Amino acid sequence: MSLPENFCSAPFIQLQTSKDNRCGVCPYTPNRWQVQGTIADKWKSKELESLRKSFIENKQDPQCRRCWKEEEAGKKSLRLRLSEHKGSKNTDEIFEKYIEPFDIPTGRIWLMPCCGSRDEHIEAAPMVAEMAKKHHFNFSPRLHLLVWDMALKV
Ligand code: SF4
Repeated sequence: MSLPENFCSAPFIQLQTSKDNRCGVCPYTPNRWQVQGTIADKWKSKELESLRKSFIENKQDPQCRRCWKEEEAGKKSLRLRLSEHKGSKNTDEIFEKYIEPFDIPTGRIWLMPCCGSRDEHIEAAPMVAEMAKKHHFNFSPRLHLLVWDMALKV
């Protein structure tokens, strides 16, 4: 099964929030929407659902104009770069830049394979599990992929 041509994975896999209840899904949509409530409320908000629906229906959502303009100009947009991302094997750099400076306990960090199908999950999981073991992080599979593969498109 192939994804729609204009699909972007961002609203399905990530969420950015701020102290004043604003949220977005990528660096091109920071603080885009004002949504009250918990992170779960933001994740399930009509704003994010609308964006997800656009991508599932292969529409070029106008909120993503920066990506569409980059692509029109022949550049590799953030959307296209996200679709190519297969995860980083360099956990040492992540550790030094994003974990040690903030003194985050390793037991509060969870790693999940970055993948979009059961086959990709089977391929990526051992490497991610080894990273988790190396740094004493937690490891979680993407259960929806293992159980339903791509049937739910999440
Ligand atoms: S298409 Fe671009 S702007 Fe829209 S969510 Fe994806 S990465 Fe962000």
